[in-house]
Amino acid sequence: MKISEILKTKRTLSFEVFPPKKEGEEKAELLKTIEKLGRLSPDFISVTYGAGGSNARDAAEIAGEIKKSGIEPLAHITGGPSDPSDIDRVSEKLISLGVENVLALRGDKPADFGEDYCKYFPHATDLMTYLGDKFCLGGACYPEGHPECDTLRDDIMNLKKKQDCGAEFLITQLFYDNSYYYRLLHEAGSLGVTVPIIPGIMPLVSAKNIRRIKSMCGSAIPLDFRNMIESYSKSPSVMREIGLNYAVYQIIDLIAKGAPGIHLYIMNRADTAAEICSRLENVFNEFFRA
Ligand code: FAD
Repeated sequence: MKISEILKTKRTLSFEVFPPKKEGEEKAELLKTIEKLGRLSPDFISVTYGAGGSNARDAAEIAGEIKKSGIEPLAHITGGPSDPSDIDRVSEKLISLGVENVLALRGDKPADFGEDYCKYFPHATDLMTYLGDKFCLGGACYPEGHPECDTLRDDIMNLKKKQDCGAEFLITQLFYDNSYYYRLLHEAGSLGVTVPIIPGIMPLVSAKNIRRIKSMCGSAIPLDFRNMIESYSKSPSVMREIGLNYAVYQIIDLIAKGAPGIHLYIMNRADTAAEICSRLENVFNEFFRA
């Protein structure tokens, strides 16, 4: 089913997984994770695609496995490393596996990639135009602004282009301060972006992830939360507790203010997803019904 159709009837709960780096055991582990995630009744599970495009086949196969398990997959595709024949190949594979939804992205140039990066698809919008109506298309957006854009306004004007090129929903980069999301909604609305913008939440369950998050996406961590992390970082179990509770707090606030869904970046950890869902059981039962 198309995610745009689901969004017309209810809030969506979704998770993101990434394909295994190695064949064999890791893939079996991911399939078990998908099975566990299925018990949490997500509306869709998204599968990332390597910025260099090397794991395209695995990503498509994982999307196919998700579909087989009865959950709607959202397959990411990055246009940056691809030429049109790569996109044709992956599209055909996804269609043959019954995948209806694609998150069309540009990707970031990996250090070992040549000058050809983005030669055919300089922006996500070019990939969206190329894919046309083969899939229900989604795009990425950035509550704190994409790092390459001078102003949030410029970035949001580009977001409007994504909508004009066929994006039917958007998923945000992770953030820890909900006010950035509300500002994005406000600014995007004033520039004519009308498609649902699903907030992406990544529970920060380990102190060592802070540095990674900073370098990966530069998301600001509110002072209160940072102080808690610094006070308890020496105790992994307490840190996990704090990270889960903070994510729960963000989600409750987002739903109270009308977010169209929640997308959880769970780093392939079904236990993290299960803990969040258990803490929010009544909220999900009450506010995520069709
Ligand atoms: P674009 O939309 O092309 O935007 C990049 C920059 O160009 C922005 O500054 C934007 O304002 C500007 N821009 C956009 N359109 C235009 C236009 N038409 N003309 C001029 N300027 C324009 N990376 C992966 O490698 N694999 C993944 O699976 C993956 N999944 C992601 C999922 C989500 C929800 C998010 C938020 C990010 C994901 N990323 C992934 C990271 C993403 O590839 C990077 O953030 C990348 O830098 C930008 O991708 P984009 O699709 O937003 O690019």
